[in-house]
Amino acid sequence: MPLINFKCKDCDTKFSELVYSHNKDKVRCPKCNGEVKQIYEGKCNSLQTSGDNQPAGAACQSCPMRNMH
Ligand SMILES: [Zn+2]
Repeated sequence: MPLINFKCKDCDTKFSELVYSHNKDKVRCPKCNGEVKQIYEGKCNSLQTSGDNQPAGAACQSCPMRNMH
């Protein structure tokens, strides 16, 4: 199962959950039970690095899209 990142439409809570893609529409916010949308962190090959001195590729360890590269 892929680890998918979600963000609540109501309270902006971000969380990630292991869920099959065809079940992601059923995922609800753990805080308010509101609707969520899938978000893509896009850290790999990112131009948005925040200067935290991580070696190249370190961010890919947690990237949900690492299998798609
Ligand atoms: Zn919420």
